[in-house]
Amino acid sequence: MLSIKNLQASLVDGPQILRGIDLEVRPGEVHAIMGPNGAGKSTLSKVISGHPAYKVDAGSVTLDGEDLLSKDICDRANSGLFISMQYPIEIPGVNNVEFLRMALDSKRAYQGLEKISDEEFKALLEKSMKLLEMDDRYSTRGVNEGFSGGEKKRNEILQMAILDPKIAFLDETDSGLDIDALRIVSHGINALQNNNRSVILVTHYQRLLDYVKPNFVHVLRKGKIVLSGGPELALELEQKGYDWIPGEE
Ligand code: ADP
Ligand code: MG
Repeated sequence: MLSIKNLQASLVDGPQILRGIDLEVRPGEVHAIMGPNGAGKSTLSKVISGHPAYKVDAGSVTLDGEDLLSKDICDRANSGLFISMQYPIEIPGVNNVEFLRMALDSKRAYQGLEKISDEEFKALLEKSMKLLEMDDRYSTRGVNEGFSGGEKKRNEILQMAILDPKIAFLDETDSGLDIDALRIVSHGINALQNNNRSVILVTHYQRLLDYVKPNFVHVLRKGKIVLSGGPELALELEQKGYDWIPGEE
């Protein structure tokens, strides 16, 4: 589904950060990416999504065989890529629900579908907000406006529920969540998971992986995946840290 081959990317007019990433994600799989701060995990999500601060030096990224890197940022999203940001931004003045609806309609237009009807959207929104145990505060405010860190993360998963992506790259969605919010967000991710959707979870903590079980765990270090394994690798990392892993200096 998502195929990343030898991806190398730099800051525009800056040093190289990703130094040859290879990752194959098949439909229905959950991959966890772990690794020390500054390894390039968030950069990977931004390069895949087309963030203008980075330039691709080499390699390819395809989604269902289609080249993603040649598409603009909107078309990447419309073709089924979803990124949940490590630091979601506030967009005061843009109502959260209007935003969700416009994003969904833009995706539907890309797919050649008509705009969603009032009833259909209302049903989808209610179902999704219920799943994430979100109340009306979330629908009356601007996007993330005045939301706590945990509320922003929950709102990210609400976007995922509405947009129904093929692949979701969730960047530290568990950071800053209290125990209840972690349970709700994890439950939401699991409820949205199916045989056609894949998830990449960036996390520092095993506690998220207790809820959302990964098929594969990868360690990213200095812009490269230096080790991959099964779910047991996350437990080992929790005990031993990252120092024992061989990696290029
Ligand atoms: P991680 O998410 O693994 O903690 P990042 O991808 O955020 O790491 O960052 C990788 C490295 O690239 C860090 O050294 C970071 O400072 C640098 N970097 C990433 N994005 C930028 C940027 N927009 N401007 C300057 N430095 C950046
Ligand atoms: Mg990061």
